[in-house]
Amino acid sequence: MTTAYISHPACLGHQTGSDHPESPQRLYAIEDALISTGLMSLLKRTDAPRATREQLCRVHSPGYLDEIERHAPMSGLVTLDADTVMGPGSLEAAYRAAGAMVLGVEMVIHNEVETAFCGIRPPGHHAGRNSAMGFCIFNNLAVGAAHALAAGIDRVAIVDFDVHHGNGTESIFQADDRIMLCSVFQHPFYPYTPLVTDSRHIVHVPLNAGAYSDEFQQAVQNHLLPVLHRFRPELILVSAGFDSHFEDCMGQLNLLDSDYYWITREIMEVATHCAGGRVVSTLEGGYELHALGRAVVQHIRALMRI
Ligand SMILES: [Zn+2]
Repeated sequence: MTTAYISHPACLGHQTGSDHPESPQRLYAIEDALISTGLMSLLKRTDAPRATREQLCRVHSPGYLDEIERHAPMSGLVTLDADTVMGPGSLEAAYRAAGAMVLGVEMVIHNEVETAFCGIRPPGHHAGRNSAMGFCIFNNLAVGAAHALAAGIDRVAIVDFDVHHGNGTESIFQADDRIMLCSVFQHPFYPYTPLVTDSRHIVHVPLNAGAYSDEFQQAVQNHLLPVLHRFRPELILVSAGFDSHFEDCMGQLNLLDSDYYWITREIMEVATHCAGGRVVSTLEGGYELHALGRAVVQHIRALMRI
């Protein structure tokens, strides 16, 4: 069984302005690192399709889709929120980013690959049903999770290890107990999601600013993995954010390259027990280009079981 690397050239065409951290350079850094380590030649490289309106409307309102299409500029940049911009290539990139998750889910369900990584942008986990936020236009991972449910999967677990809480994903699935959402993130920190939740299928693992690998691994071991095991997911989706790396100035956590290998191995172990090994991961944050490339290599090595 192999691992898919799903992306699309359109994801490089999402221009955000010269000093924006969420830049096309991020995907070049990832692909350079995968090529230089020899991993790219072992991956099943596949182009992402566009997500259809039906697939997007499982998690976004039709009115929001219309609004995003209306905002898409012919030239220059428009702002959707304080941090989120759209240029002429952004709409196509957003469709392909969401479509990558749909394809990843299809590929693992049909046993074409065991695992998949979506090397896409814009990221998605802050986008809500009716809102763009924090660099995110469509909630790519949520579109993938909803597709899995529509395809007959009964229990989908989401693991989010971005330094920021995935508030968009949580708001979309808060009333859906077919989805288990486990997030480890810096707290208190953007987007300042309240930690109180009545939902047993939503698990918050907050870490203080300055936390190191041992605190991260202990928190994940004690508070995230047991819940994930008990849920017995049939499929695991990962919001893979690498802005929790110690070199990344976007957050104040101090994770090492090897922590991304470690948590991915732990996720793979649960997937092997309950989900036939099926894991689909998608890029969220990660803005220090050298650290991003190295950390993604470690994440993908674990997805490939090497
Ligand atoms: Zn982030």
